[in-house]
Amino acid sequence: MIDSHVHLNRHEFQGQQDEVISRARAAGITKFLNVGYDLQSSAESIALAEANTDILATVGIHPHDAALLADEEGQILTETAQVLDQLRSLAAHPKVVAIGEIGLDFFRDLSPRPAQYAALKMQLEIATELDLPVVFHIRDAWSETLAFLDEIGIPPRRGILHSFSGDEASVEWAQKNGFFLGIGGPVTYKNSKLDSLVALAGAEMIVLETDAPWLPPVPFRGQRNESAYLVHTCARVATALGLDVEDVDRMTTDNFHRLFLGGPFDT
Ligand SMILES: [Zn+2]
Repeated sequence: MIDSHVHLNRHEFQGQQDEVISRARAAGITKFLNVGYDLQSSAESIALAEANTDILATVGIHPHDAALLADEEGQILTETAQVLDQLRSLAAHPKVVAIGEIGLDFFRDLSPRPAQYAALKMQLEIATELDLPVVFHIRDAWSETLAFLDEIGIPPRRGILHSFSGDEASVEWAQKNGFFLGIGGPVTYKNSKLDSLVALAGAEMIVLETDAPWLPPVPFRGQRNESAYLVHTCARVATALGLDVEDVDRMTTDNFHRLFLGGPFDT
């Protein structure tokens, strides 16, 4: 199976990166998509991808850091063009398969909302320009993000709605527009409504992810998450879909390949 969203560069893994990656491989993880969230983590993702044949990278500026690209009124800054140029040159690396994680986060609101909208729009333009899919981070901003995409245009190569936490209408929007739902640890949590949304979406729309070091699945809540734990998420998704774990593994792996690598046979 594929961990479609992980942050192996994080300090939580410092000194243990190799064993964490080995444990994941031993647990059946065949690919990792290491996701950038600022210029430094994007460069670190590329370094990891260069050192490991089974790691791919994304580059992007998270909505938390949108203030790097725009002010509180959404206007560009003197350094915006330079940051975007750096992002473009990182994105040109052959192991970079998407722009992300980018989006809107109205839960923590760490950057002003007009700056978040502006940063999202500028990076969607880069995704279009470079013909890359997008990894979206959306938190407490589902209707706003989807309405914004409807307004400014769906990125041509589509992408993943990472750590999906939308409602039925968001699932239908994703279905209509050809996006995948990134499903991780929260699907295993008691009282989670995600399993019914997973069932509504169907296996054709799902990719698995850990978001490690965050969001560990049951029975690891409260601990550091890692890619090896993805098997627990896969099992819960299989239950929600009424499918065997092997089928969910195969179908979500094919989905990932179709989105990022041009087809189920390109491994
Ligand atoms: Zn993430």
